[in-house]
Amino acid sequence: MTKDWAASVNRIFRTISGSKRVDKVPFLAFAGEQMICRVTGKTVKELYSSPKVYANAIITTFEFLNTDSINVPSAYAGPSEALAFAEANNKLDTIKWFDYQPPMCNQGAICKSEEDIEKLEIPDHSKNNLWKNSLLAAKMINEKIKFPQVISLSIWSVVQELRGIEAYKDMRRNPDLLLKLCEKIYESQMDIYENWLEIVGMPPNVFIAGYAFNRHMMSFQDSMRYEGQFIKRMMNKINVPFMLHNCGTSPYFTEVVKEINFIAVNGSHPLDIEYWIDFKKKYPKIVIIGANIDVSREMLTGTPSDVEKKVKENILNLAPGGRYICCPVCSLPWGVPIPNILAIPKAIEKYGHYPIKIN
Ligand SMILES: [Zn+2]
Repeated sequence: MTKDWAASVNRIFRTISGSKRVDKVPFLAFAGEQMICRVTGKTVKELYSSPKVYANAIITTFEFLNTDSINVPSAYAGPSEALAFAEANNKLDTIKWFDYQPPMCNQGAICKSEEDIEKLEIPDHSKNNLWKNSLLAAKMINEKIKFPQVISLSIWSVVQELRGIEAYKDMRRNPDLLLKLCEKIYESQMDIYENWLEIVGMPPNVFIAGYAFNRHMMSFQDSMRYEGQFIKRMMNKINVPFMLHNCGTSPYFTEVVKEINFIAVNGSHPLDIEYWIDFKKKYPKIVIIGANIDVSREMLTGTPSDVEKKVKENILNLAPGGRYICCPVCSLPWGVPIPNILAIPKAIEKYGHYPIKIN
């Protein structure tokens, strides 16, 4: 049986745009390098070595998991952006490679001192092999299965990689220095966007990994200062709808959507479904991608029937009226049982056909 990607494209993008012509609730998941290695038996270096091998492995994995979404995990402002900064600043010794997970940066090592920030060079992503191959893989996925690839950008997740725990001290002691770092990261993110335009083409949406928007990390005011204002600037330059991802435990979703015009929010918390029911009532035009399906809970330690219950709860409460995408958040960890992942599309098949039948 070959997967009908055209149906998935319709399901996802029609749901995002609020169309009523959706057959069933879409299933979106984040399969990172760990999952792709696990499904295809390839090492991370093999994946990264050729855009063709990488694109095919990604397609195989997402088809195996029966998702309606597909993306290139390394085309993201986390470890890959740390690697690009490390390369541009002759600090590749801060990066550690593994067989079955993405490279990891020794957090805070690239911008250890004030001088490191002052002298920090912005990477040229067209010269970085991982970025080049990731963008070429995205282009191949576009071409092969006609699934428009969404670009992922971020500020704070890169701050965390480059500056580490010092960033939180900078907020009190030297906010100007921290803003200087954010400014450089913004410039680098726009370089990714320029390369994306050239290689992959215009993205249908921007997916912001907005890790600053979390009560555990900083005040809301600070999250707007160190991430929000830069997202607003991105929005002025990139004229497509933006979606916000935050997989933290106390996200500022209700606060941030008053300040920034997001078309969708994506998270796994709060776990209380009432929060999401209320959110949908207050913001009926904002798509919910989630809502309380956390990859480290029933997905990881429960059974397929626990997962089914959770998915059912999400669908019955949030899918009526549309603008709901079922999504375990965040990236599927190494140890999550495959039957638990496959329980999601099965539960959608059972409960997620429109119109949603509430008992
Ligand atoms: Zn996340």
